[in-house]
Amino acid sequence: MMIVMKPTATEDEIQAVIDRIRSVGARAHPSRGDEVTVIGAIGDREHVARLELEGTPGVERVVPILKPYKLSSTQFKHGERTVLDIGGRKVGGQNFAMIAGPCTVESREQTLDTARAVRDAGGTLFRGGAYKPRTSPYAFQGLGQEGLRLLAEAKAETGLPIVTELMDQRDLEQVLEVADVIQIGARNMQNYTLLAEVGRAGRPVLLKRGLSATLEELLMAAEYILKEGNESVMLCERGIRTFETAYRFTLDLTAVPVLKELSHLPVIVDPSHAAGRRDLVTPLSLAAAAAGADGIIVELHPRPDQAICDGPQALIANEFGDYVERVQAAAAVAGKALSVAAV
Ligand code: PEP
Ligand code: MN
Repeated sequence: MMIVMKPTATEDEIQAVIDRIRSVGARAHPSRGDEVTVIGAIGDREHVARLELEGTPGVERVVPILKPYKLSSTQFKHGERTVLDIGGRKVGGQNFAMIAGPCTVESREQTLDTARAVRDAGGTLFRGGAYKPRTSPYAFQGLGQEGLRLLAEAKAETGLPIVTELMDQRDLEQVLEVADVIQIGARNMQNYTLLAEVGRAGRPVLLKRGLSATLEELLMAAEYILKEGNESVMLCERGIRTFETAYRFTLDLTAVPVLKELSHLPVIVDPSHAAGRRDLVTPLSLAAAAAGADGIIVELHPRPDQAICDGPQALIANEFGDYVERVQAAAAVAGKALSVAAV
């Protein structure tokens, strides 16, 4: 249920409603908008209905949330968009986030060279995997803790906030020391204990769509994070499995406007993993930006031919500036401006 407060509701009236929701064992998720405060009551519907909150001081009306996902639904935020603040850089709303970096952290030189290219091109966040989900158990699995240390060094030098993947909750504490955004990979989208754990950790999360997940399943996965009180979630379309074999995955760009219709959360597009090929990355990025994506997460490498992982799809670091300019122009078509550090 959603309790829409009157624009004139006082802080005491809001708190009284929250207390009553909690008194029946339900969770209260207040969302304070510019105009009104909306309180999501998540729990046993019957119990909340019995409170008869309609008519309580400060309450405008009580409406059921019809979708199975509640906290992530557009209805929950009353049509307002969520804008995350990642170390002073905004994600969502009118802001376009350019997230870039190597698939995997390989070495100090490779990491720092790539981070400098991202900074010089005006990128928003730096990505890089220290823990890698690989299809083969015999493939390089990432540098682990040493990778995290190199990411911290890249952040210290460039000031770019870090996006890095968490695969196992046993690594959470170490990842939290470095990550400004925790990436949950496509293969872990339905790892519900991991989702709840990052929900409790409270750090912003970039949640990738599973290889064969529907949009509703993606939003239900986001719900696991939001339910723990972590409101900072961005959704990521990274290509899905279809019958097509000409490219790695099929980038589902219809998901961009549809997710934005269903949810208030920012929507990021990953053209790299969808394409699997460098020459497809730019056209897909332009299309995603023009379609209204809130950002792009793209793989970049100083020498892709020597990359340990995902080299064929990596953009070349010294060409990144031109790429950013083109994508920025496409984002402007959708009314968005590149998100940079607050000064
Ligand atoms: C990645 O971003 O490096 C990655 C492994 O992505 P995905 O989980 O989408 O395959
Ligand atoms: Mn990759």
